Amino acid sequence: MDTPSVALPVAQRFSGLSNEEQSILDQADRFARQELFPLARRMDDEEWWPPDAFPKIGAHGYFGIPVPEAYGGVGMDLFASGLVLQAFGRWNSGLSLSWVAHENLCLYNLYRNANEAQRRRYLPGLCSGQLTGALALTEPGAGSDALGSMRTTARRDGDAYVLNGTKIYITNGPVADVLLVYAKTEPERGARGISAFIVEKGFPGFKVAQKLVKMGFRGSPTGELVFEDCRVPAANLVGEENEGVRVVMSGLDLERAMVAPLCLGIAERALALSIDYARTREQFGRPIADFQLIQGKLADMYVWVEAMRVFTYQALRAANHLEIGGGGRGEIHKITAASVMFAADTMNKVLNEALQVHGGSGYIWDSEINRLYRAIKLLEIGAGTTEVRKIIIAGELLRG
Ligand SMILES: Cc1cc2nc3c(=O)[nH]c(=O)nc-3n(C[C@H](O)[C@H](O)[C@H](O)COP(=O)(O)OP(=O)(O)OC[C@H]3O[C@@H](n4cnc5c(N)ncnc54)[C@H](O)[C@@H]3O)c2cc1C
Repeated sequence: MDTPSVALPVAQRFSGLSNEEQSILDQADRFARQELFPLARRMDDEEWWPPDAFPKIGAHGYFGIPVPEAYGGVGMDLFASGLVLQAFGRWNSGLSLSWVAHENLCLYNLYRNANEAQRRRYLPGLCSGQLTGALALTEPGAGSDALGSMRTTARRDGDAYVLNGTKIYITNGPVADVLLVYAKTEPERGARGISAFIVEKGFPGFKVAQKLVKMGFRGSPTGELVFEDCRVPAANLVGEENEGVRVVMSGLDLERAMVAPLCLGIAERALALSIDYARTREQFGRPIADFQLIQGKLADMYVWVEAMRVFTYQALRAANHLEIGGGGRGEIHKITAASVMFAADTMNKVLNEALQVHGGSGYIWDSEINRLYRAIKLLEIGAGTTEVRKIIIAGELLRG
C-alpha cells in the first residue's frame, strides 16, 4: 500500500492521493494536454465533434476505467475515473463532458446493471471508443421531475418493446451508437413503472431530431431524440421490467460524484491561467500581480479550489463503495448531491474572479478563460439542478 511520505510533493501530500493515484492524474493530464487541448478551440468555434478523439482516448486506456479487463476495461475504480476526468477537464471541457456521459452515464451504468450477454455485446466497443454512448432520461416536459413527468412509453409486443416519445438535451445524442434510455412500461404506476433499455442508433423508429447549439461545452454534441414506434429487442431490457427507477437513482448518485471532478479540473485551469496572466499583464508600469486587490482574488481562488478538491475526493471515495443497486437515498445520496452542489457553485466563484483578473481580454470569445466561463453554468443545471440538490440534502437531513 502507498503511504504518503515527506518526499511527496506538497500538493500531493495535502490532496491525500496515493502515489498510484497521483500518477494516474499526472498521466491523464499529460495525455489531455497533448491530445485533447489542441482540439478545444475548433470544437468551441464550430460546435465541431472530433470523430477520432474517442477511439484515441480508448486506445490509450481512458475508457472503462472502473470496468474489469474481461469486458475491455481497465480494472481500476470510480475514483481513478474521477481523476482522469479532473485532468481532462483542465484541457478540454467540451470533450470532458462527452467523456463523462459516455464513461459514466452509459458505460459504467451498463456494467453495473446489464446482464452478462448485454455486457459482452456492448462494453468492449464502448471501452475501446469504437462505440459512443449516451444516456437519455430528460424530456421536453420532464426535467427536474424526470421520473414523475416522463411520457416516453415502452409497450411489449412479442419479442420486442415499442418505444414512443421524445428525449431532450442528451449529451452525445447526435453521435451516439448505444443509448441507455428510460421509458414507462406501466405509466399508471408512475416512477414504479419505469424500465431501462439499450437502444442502438440503427433500430427502426429511432432518430436524432436536432442537434442543439449551446453557449458552452461546445463541440460536445447535445441533441433531441425521437422514438416513433421504435422496436427494441426484449433482450435489451436492462434489469427487471418496472425496476428502472433503481438504475436511474443509483446512476444519478454516481453521476453527481463524477461531475464534481470536472468542476475541479476547470477551476484548477482557471486559477493557473489567472496566475499566469497576473504575472505577465502590466498596468501602471508593473505586473497586475503586484496589486493587492489582484493578489486577494488569487488567494480566494486558491482557497476555493483546495476546498473543492477535499470535498470532491471525499464524495468520490464514498461513491467508490456504492453497491450495485444501492444509492438514491441515505448518506451517499446526500454527500454526492452536496459535493456537486459545492463544486459547481464554487467553480462559478472561481471563474467569475478569473475572468475579472483577465479584464477585457477575458470577455473576448476566443480566449481560453472565456471558453471556460461560458461552460460552467451547465454544472449548476445538469445532473439535477442546484435547487434539486438542495431538496435532496434537506430531505436526507430531515428524514425521520
Ligand atoms: C448541455 C446539457 C446536457 C445535458 N445532458 C443530459 C444527458 O446526457 N442526459 C439527460 O437525460 N439529460 C441531460 N440534460 C438535462 C438536464 O439534466 C436537465 O436540464 C436538468 O435536469 C433540469 O431540467 P430542465 O432543464 O427541464 O429544468 P426544469 O426542471 O424545468 O427547471 C427549471 C427551474 O426550476 C427549478 N425547479 C424545478 N423544480 C423545482 C422544485 N421542486 N423546487 C424548486 N425549484 C425547482 C429548477 O431548479 C430550475 O431552476 C442536459 C442538459 C443540458 C443543458
